[in-house]
This record gives sequence, C-alpha cells and structure tokens, in this order.
Amino acid sequence: MKLEPMLSNQYPITQIQQIIGAKGIIAHETSIGILLTDSRKIGSPGISLFFALKDRRDGHEFIPEVYKAGVRNFVVSTIPDGDMAEANFLLVDDVLKALQTLAAYQRSRFNYDVIGVTGSNGKTIVKEWLYQLMYHDQKIVRNPKSFNSQLGVALSLWQMNDMHTLGIFEAGISTTGEMERLEVMIKPTIGVLTHMGAAHNEGFSSAEQKLEEKLKLFAHCDLVVYKYDTLVGYKGDKPGKKHFTWSQDKAEADLHVFSETIIANKFYLRARYQEKEIECLVPFVDEASVENAITCWATLLALGYEPELIDDRMEHLAPVSMRMELKDGINNCSVIDDSYNSDIQSLEIALNFLNQQNQHPTRTLILSDIFQSGLEPGVLYGQVAALLTEKKIDKFIGVGKAISERQDIFKVPEKHFFTDTESLLVKLPDLELDDETILIKGSRSFEFERVSRALVKKAHETVLEINLNALQNNLSYYRSKLAPGVKIMAMVKAFSYGSGSFEVANLLQFNKVDYLAVAYVDEGVALRNAGITLPVVVLNPEVSAFDKLVEFKLEPEIYSFTLFDEFVKFAQAKKVLNYPIHIKIDTGMHRLGFEGFEIETLCDLIEDNRYVHIQSVFSHLVASDAEIHDAFTLKQLNRFEKAYRQIEAAVGYKFDRHIANTSAITRWPVAQLDMVRLGIGLYGIDNAIKDEISPLQPVATLKTSVSQVKKVAAGDTIGYNRNGSLTKDGKIATVRIGYADGYLRAFGNGVGRMLVKGVLAPTVGNISMDMTMIDVSEIEIKEGDEVIVFNEEYKIEELARQINTIPYEILTNVSQRVKRVYFYE
Ligand SMILES: *Cc1c(COP(=O)(O)O)cnc(C)c1O
Repeated sequence: MKLEPMLSNQYPITQIQQIIGAKGIIAHETSIGILLTDSRKIGSPGISLFFALKDRRDGHEFIPEVYKAGVRNFVVSTIPDGDMAEANFLLVDDVLKALQTLAAYQRSRFNYDVIGVTGSNGKTIVKEWLYQLMYHDQKIVRNPKSFNSQLGVALSLWQMNDMHTLGIFEAGISTTGEMERLEVMIKPTIGVLTHMGAAHNEGFSSAEQKLEEKLKLFAHCDLVVYKYDTLVGYKGDKPGKKHFTWSQDKAEADLHVFSETIIANKFYLRARYQEKEIECLVPFVDEASVENAITCWATLLALGYEPELIDDRMEHLAPVSMRMELKDGINNCSVIDDSYNSDIQSLEIALNFLNQQNQHPTRTLILSDIFQSGLEPGVLYGQVAALLTEKKIDKFIGVGKAISERQDIFKVPEKHFFTDTESLLVKLPDLELDDETILIKGSRSFEFERVSRALVKKAHETVLEINLNALQNNLSYYRSKLAPGVKIMAMVKAFSYGSGSFEVANLLQFNKVDYLAVAYVDEGVALRNAGITLPVVVLNPEVSAFDKLVEFKLEPEIYSFTLFDEFVKFAQAKKVLNYPIHIKIDTGMHRLGFEGFEIETLCDLIEDNRYVHIQSVFSHLVASDAEIHDAFTLKQLNRFEKAYRQIEAAVGYKFDRHIANTSAITRWPVAQLDMVRLGIGLYGIDNAIKDEISPLQPVATLKTSVSQVKKVAAGDTIGYNRNGSLTKDGKIATVRIGYADGYLRAFGNGVGRMLVKGVLAPTVGNISMDMTMIDVSEIEIKEGDEVIVFNEEYKIEELARQINTIPYEILTNVSQRVKRVYFYE
C-alpha cells in the first residue's frame, strides 16, 4: 500500500521544472508528492523527488542507490553517469535553492496567517506551546520537532495544505544572510521574537548585529510580538506594521507583568493589560519557561484571545520533549518513549527509528488518536495504516475512538484497540508484551507517560545517556573526510567503547557502514542476535569459539601461525571452504600480527589453500595522533605496503587493505587505502582535532543523583580511612556513584570534580564502592538533585587529565550496572 499524498501537494514534474527554473531531461510526465533529501528514508519512491544536496557528503553520490530503490525524479547540479533511462533529471545551479524556491511557491498558495518564530533560545518551545494553546480552534501546520534550518524550514513548508487555517514556523540562523532566505520562504504575517541570549554569537560581529539579522524575519509582518526590553536602544527600524510588547519591569509595555510568585510548583503571574489587571498560572518554575510562557501569553492577547481563556489553557501547558528515548523495558522489551506529541510527520520519524532497531523479533506500536492533522479522518488514518504496513509493524495497539472505529483498515499481523488510556492500562498485562521493541506515541490528552511508566524498567539512578544523533553526526564528519570509495569499519568492541552494543550497532548498520569489528566472538554473537547483518570482524577470536564464529558468520582476524593452523584445521573438519579471514600485520605495535620476516612463510601457506579466503590485510598504527612519532608512522606505512604487496603477488587476487584508525583519517589521508577503522572518533573524541570549535559532538553523558546532603564542621573527617575533611564548616553531598560504577578511586580526595548546577564540586575523601562525597558548601542542593559526572561541556577528556589517563579508559570503564539510555531526535 502506498502513502496517498495530500491533494494540494501534487505537482506535475514539468510544473516543478518551471517553478524552479530548471533545465532538464524529462523522460516521462509524472506527479510528485514527496520531497526526498535523505537516501535512507525512501518511503514512496513513485511520487518522490530526490534533491541531491551537497551536505557533508554530496547527494549526487547516492543517486544510483536511490534510483535502484525505485525513485525516478531528481533535482541535480550535474547529470550523473550511469544507465538510468527512466529518470527525470531537473538540472539547476544550486539544489538547495531550488528546494527553497519550491517551498516558497507552495507557501504562496495559501492565504491563512503564518506565525514566524525566531530568537536565540526557546523557538521550539514557543512554537510548540502556541500550538498547544491554539489547536482547539485552529488547524495548525508547523515544523516537525525543531526543523528550523534552511533545509528544515523548506521541508516544513511543503506540508502546508488548504485544510489548515494557521501556520507556525520557527526559523533558526547561525550567521548573516541566512534570515533573508528564510523570510522569503516563510513570509510570516505575524512575528514572535523569543529570548535573545548569547547562543550562536560566533556567527555575528555583535549582539546588535545578531538582533538585526533575526528581525529580518519580520520584514513583511502585520504584527510583531516581542519583549519590550529587547529593543530598548536598538537603532535600526522596528519591523512590522503593528507591535505588541511585554515586560517584567517596564510599565510602558502593552503587557506589564508586575508580579511573579511561586505557588505549589507553579508560577502565578499578574499583569496589567489595557488598564485591567489580568493573571495566569504557568505550570513551570524555571526562568526560561516563564519567559517563554509570557511570550505565548502576549501573542494570544495580541491575537485577540480573552485573558480568561488564555489562563485556562496556559495551566495545561505540557513540557516539550523533543527527543525520543530508548530504554530497557519489562519482559526483555525495549521501549522508545515518544509520548509527548503525535502527528503524522513525527510518527514517520519515530517509525524510522523503530525500524533501525532490530534487537527484538517483534515491532510494536502503541498509538493514540491524532488530532489537528488538517486532514479528513478517513485520509489521515489511511495514511497511518499505509505507514504501518510500509514500516513493517508486527503488532499495533490503537487507543482512542477515532482509531478504534477504523480497525479494519490496519493491515498488521496483530492488533488491539482501546477507547481510552485507562482501558489500555487495565488490559496491559493480558497483552503479554515480550521480547519486543515498543514505540509509544500519543497526543497530549492521552497522557501516554502513564503507559511508558508501566512498561519501562526502573533505572538505577546513575545513567549513561547516549546521544545517537551525535554519533550519527560524528560518522558523517569522518565520511566527509574520506576519499571516494573508501569503506568504513566501525569499531564497536567493548560494548561500543562503553556506549552500548546493539543499539549503536543498529544505528551504524542503518547508516550503512561497511563493516563492524568486535573483540570477542560473544560480542559478535550478541550483535547477530540483535539483527545485525553487516559483516563483523572478530579481532581476538578464541579457538574454543570457532564453532560459534562460523555458525554466526563472523570473520576472524588471523594474527599468528598457530591461529592460522587451528582455523584451517577447523574449516577442514567442518568442510568449510573459502571462509573470509583478515590477516593482521605487525608493523611496529608489537602486540598481535605477522612480522615482516614471517610473511613469506605465510604466503606459502595461503597459496592454494581452499579453506580460507583473504578478505583483508591490515595493520595498526601506534601513534597516528602524535606529531613527534610521525617518522615512525611513516615507517609503519612503508612496512605495511611492502607486506600487502608481497601477499597480493603470492595469492593473485585483490583484498581490502587498511591501517588507519580515527586519528589517522584526518592526519594521514594517504593511509586511508581501501578502508578505515573508525573507533573513538565515533564517540566524539579525537586527539588529532585541535579546532577551537570541534566538528565532533560528545556522545555520552554520565549522570547521577544526590542521596543525602550533610552539614559538616571544619576538621570532621569524611569517608573511609579519615582521608577527607573541609577546612571551613560546610556541606557535603553523597552521590550514587562509586568505583564499582567506573568512577575510579583515583578521583578521590579532591582530584576529581562533578558538575552540580553549573558549578564544579570537588570530591572529598576516598571514593567508596557505590558512593562518592562531594563538597557542596557553596551550592544550593537537595536530595534527588542531578549531578553530572561528564557531559558535552564537562568533557571526558577533562576527567582523563585529572587522573592522568586517556579518554578511552574513562569511557570504557563505566560499568555495565549503569543503565544506558539512548536518545534520538
Ligand atoms: C580499537 C581499534 C581501532 C580503533 O582505534 P581508535 O583510535 O579508537 O579509532 C582500530 N583498529 C584496531 C585493530 C583496534 O583494535
């Protein structure tokens, strides 16, 4: 079944050609409904138009693959070679610009109001809250998640159709010149400026310039809403015909919020508006949320909403969670928790994520009724049903009246329906969810966080969070550094350097790396059991596990004559022929591998051997990141070349040659050869990258929490062996992490620090097995508060320096008892 595109989004390919002013080769007329920019997300190839964008990698490289998947329409800047007789090619100078021109055209067809949201913080939250406050009376189209870039905005606008009555689009920029392009596309009629802070200052010469750039979004607005104080002293023209301002201390503002009190975990706000006093209750207590909430309050007043109605709705504002979390569930399930919102675009994004996770045999979706889609229910649920089929959902649990009424259109192997969340919760045990990957996706009013709570295992309060987007970013970065055709072997040994195992491997498989490598056979078996079909190399294969190795199609590294003999004997006995092996050459590490003088004998053994086939020959650099060892690295490269040439001549066939680890990829491009072995760089760490702003994103955050806070007097001793004390009277906090979790004893007695509410608090006394004490004398803190051991700002590299080790050790030390939580946006 195919996803039926919405009617207003169908364009004949020749019309698109005209709109974007493309030259072209049109092989056949056809209708386009879907704009495709990611070769991994092909849903309905027949009606898709692929834009070959030049991002980190050039989209043109993917055209043959996309063509093979059935796509026949392409926007390109060069016509690719190859036999693609059925393809339509639209030729333009700038592919992204063409996509934006099409988006702008789509936008121009609709006359309803469009709210444009920008600022340096809070754009997504304000956009989502405006949606939460107005969906009752408007059919709203908005950016999915925070798709606010040049590309994201264009794709968001493409969703507009004539069933909507309001658009809300956020726009994000990082430097000058970008906002004009976004304004031309979005053409907002109403502007909303959110908090202007220090974020993204690098791209601008001054705060004034940053503000000036952001305001360009409002160039053609009828009405602009902003905080009065932001434009005080601003010298440029204020954009927009009319203005509505708010302030917490300037009485001149249209909305003057003069009182803010916290009552029972809510902010009670009072303000003067049109000479009257009005009030509202905001269910959050942090400053940023309050500012975002006031921005929404002002916007609704400016749009003519009654203060009482706004107050009612504000009280129900829900937190905006922009990320999906993958957690361990009960009965050996994995749970993807995306319970905060539900619309067809974010459903598709979540289903893609579900699809890349193959660790359990069954894929289950729990979905509520979807509101405010702007589509007729028949069309909407038809699309949902098609998506479920396309994404191969095995088990579907529908909750809500609208879904339940349409049970018959869902063609899935197993389905259950409930009219509301309560009845689902009552019946949950009867559904016998077991060994499944479960995606939970629900509209706000269904309160699916209750379902999530019922299905997720209670976590020990110390967790290692893994940001899968960051990992994907790092992979793309190294990809962009590879010469054409160079393959990637991703190193996922030692539980992916401590970052997980099959969750990471599944993401890498989805992102089409060529090989995975693990240290031991068991690790490889675990990957196979989790649905990994990529070739997997075992670096340290144990003779006793050859059986398993062959059964699970894992490929051994062969580093010695003994191992070679054993493996050939085994293959002979099992009648295995041409089994792929990887020969390791020792070029200077002196750890594993054949040395130069042994290669001749090795060649004699391999020539005419029917049992094994050399898949690759490789070696390992000892110091690819260190300039002082560059001469040695060069020596290693030369020894390696000599070795593989010798083997090639002897066996008479080609195999992959590889020697580069992470740091060599950028420092030694000549060493990329046929393949690189990417390890620590995937996890956001690379000694060879010295840039001020690293292109890598740290992947892991280790968090714990406070079990108790104690006052201690100067001189009182703290912890085992009385090693710790404070010099002045003060406070200590005991946190739930110790050396058994991987927080090494070496961090004790002030050597290590933890990040508490933005402040670094030193350890006091010895680290215990399960606990650590830190000095929080100067910090407001209470039981249960979060404490960061490391994250993207307080980096693993810094911890490594504290105890004089390397980041690899810090990362791989986090013990398996610490729960891993993965998230993906
Ligand atoms: C671990 C490992 C790598 C990866 O090294 P990084 O420095 O983490 O990129 C590459 N090759 C071999 C043989 C390894 O054992």
